[in-house]
Amino acid sequence: MSDEMGSFLRFENITRKFGSFTAVNEVSLEIGQGETFSLLGPSGCGKTTLLRMAAGFDRPDSGRIFLDGKDITLLPPELRPVNTVFQNYALFPHLSIRDNIAFGPKMAKHDRASIQRDVDAMLELVDLKSHANQKPSQLSGGQKQRVAIARALVNKPKVLLLDEPLAALDLKLRQRLLVELDAIHDEVGITFIYVTHDQGEAMSISDRIAVMNKGVIEQIGPPAEIYETPRSSFVAAFIGDTNFLDGRITEVIDRQFSRCEVCGFGTITIENDKPVAVGDLIHLSLRPEKLNVLREMPNPAISQNIVRGEVEDVIYYGSHTRYWIRCGEWKLCAEMQHRNFQLNESRPKWGDEVWLSWQASDGYLLDQY
Ligand code: ATP
Repeated sequence: MSDEMGSFLRFENITRKFGSFTAVNEVSLEIGQGETFSLLGPSGCGKTTLLRMAAGFDRPDSGRIFLDGKDITLLPPELRPVNTVFQNYALFPHLSIRDNIAFGPKMAKHDRASIQRDVDAMLELVDLKSHANQKPSQLSGGQKQRVAIARALVNKPKVLLLDEPLAALDLKLRQRLLVELDAIHDEVGITFIYVTHDQGEAMSISDRIAVMNKGVIEQIGPPAEIYETPRSSFVAAFIGDTNFLDGRITEVIDRQFSRCEVCGFGTITIENDKPVAVGDLIHLSLRPEKLNVLREMPNPAISQNIVRGEVEDVIYYGSHTRYWIRCGEWKLCAEMQHRNFQLNESRPKWGDEVWLSWQASDGYLLDQY
């Protein structure tokens, strides 16, 4: 979080148990004003439970939640300046789009003129002016979700909670709505907290992401930091794909590099992302796109790591191809953009002998298994 954002929404040692099961375990988290913050993790990791406590639909067993300096832990939902957008839209089917959006301000007994003005502004914001008098059933999934966003934002919350808002939509629509959500966020400038199990969504929309696993936060940081410097194997595998190599340090070459024996694979050069000593066991993450797949053995003078292997699987994705390559006792996944092959070079296929090459800095030493 950048310093100027400060701590706007703060979770302090939050624990929530259901019977003997701990859904959220001592979670502490600070989210800045105006930030788009994602809670990302697999099903059941506790992200919705955390969001529900921010909304006031649920209470922690222990810990406190502060919003803008005030303790809101026990405040009922309707008294919090927080609104939620749900995956299933939760629109009133018998009301028009305009009346759905006007619902909150009417309940809050705003005067008619201000309701009209605010609803018009929201219809404009989500680009649904021409649908104002239609019923939800006449709209597409993406349009319904835009109504749900407008209906939440018309209450002028300080925080908008989005609980898997795009999960019911197809891929193309999800991508489009992500761009629209980003634009809406820029326009209204309030704090967005976005819950998802989709790493692509979290990466594309967030200022920062908290990766959750089994009720705890494994890592918090901006998308690129989490992708490039994952702390644990869980984070490395959940955000994108990766190869893991386990080995033992055999030589510390200098401050920057070491040699490491990987049983059944060979000796590789690694970058010392943290202090290492001879004999240390290491756990290395090596992203598929960092591996070069070559038909000829490369010049050892320009590649710090070269391993011979055999192609065991190939999947073509249009813009790139993924190769699963057997190297001794290990099978590594490598991803090659097609433009990285020479024009007339035939791309490797099943059964071909190939060389994998990468630089020491392409791998990343994990802190935890
Ligand atoms: P999903 O993406 O599937 O919604 P999640 O990460 O949001 O997953 P939560 O809904 O927060 O997960 O649930 C965390 C754990 O707590 C799950 O194992 C869930 O079964 C359990 N849980 C949540 N609410 C309750 C409840 N009211 N009673 C009992 N167990 C619950």
